[in-house]
Amino acid sequence: MTKGERAERESLIESAMPRIVFAAAFAVVALLTGAPATARHGVAAGVAHGAAPVAVVGALGAALLAGCTGVASTPRAPAIAASIADPPATTEWHAEPILARATTANVLVLNHADPSLRLDAVAAQLQRQYDWLVEWMGFAPRAVVVHVGANYPCGFSLRAGADPEMFLLAGGIFDSADNYAHEMQHCFLSELGDSIPHWFNESLSDMAWLESEIGLWQRRHAPAWIAQLDRIDWRSYELLQLRKRFGPGYFPRVFRVLWRERAACRATFSAATKLDAKNEQIVAALTEAAGEDVLPLLRELGFDPRTRERQRGY
Ligand SMILES: [Zn+2]
Repeated sequence: MTKGERAERESLIESAMPRIVFAAAFAVVALLTGAPATARHGVAAGVAHGAAPVAVVGALGAALLAGCTGVASTPRAPAIAASIADPPATTEWHAEPILARATTANVLVLNHADPSLRLDAVAAQLQRQYDWLVEWMGFAPRAVVVHVGANYPCGFSLRAGADPEMFLLAGGIFDSADNYAHEMQHCFLSELGDSIPHWFNESLSDMAWLESEIGLWQRRHAPAWIAQLDRIDWRSYELLQLRKRFGPGYFPRVFRVLWRERAACRATFSAATKLDAKNEQIVAALTEAAGEDVLPLLRELGFDPRTRERQRGY
């Protein structure tokens, strides 16, 4: 990282998170999550994605408006996660007893599943994911709350209070390839609004997972890995084409454009805004980061900004 990039990053982080009000009924950031097998094999398969969101939406429907106040400090500031309160009980899963807690600088892990788990080891891995996302995205929530449960239909995330939350299955909790990057990207992106089009939010999470496997966890060689995912029936095919064409620095540039425009994003990515306006905001950021108009390519792939809301195959 150059000095300029570091200064830019710190400035982004330090200015992060002015007050945002989230309507809890719309606060499910990523209702339809990337089930690991689906993501790993790069094939659309919606079954696992349908179940959790319905339950979550129903549970959240009656929730109150919640203030979301960011903290003007670096994400790595110690004791942030340790000092935050447990999140509001907005889903049936919050009712599960908390058997243990573990915190790092920016991650609070709540164990609802198994008292034998080394939760400190889980938290340490999740903090690595958090730190990597700070670099990749250039902005961050002050902390992420991670629930570990035995009964979730699949991994998912939501934001109903001050801090975004993600829910991971205990069975795969030590596998950092298993939804860490995907769900945490949703948590980070919730800084930009509470009603981001599903296709964009989900595909960005897939890009976070793809890049984490290469850059953070170092389990994959980029060319062969991308080639495996590069098929027209992959749910994130469109963003993958942009990644291929514009390189590994492309999405970091996209995030920096979005963050620079965060006031506009927060106004646009709300339930009151029409879909086409949201997609125009997204395409403008994708275009600026690319240095050329990406809409013709997206249209060629079947994307229509007037109608595209869901991710391909969902
Ligand atoms: Zn997702």
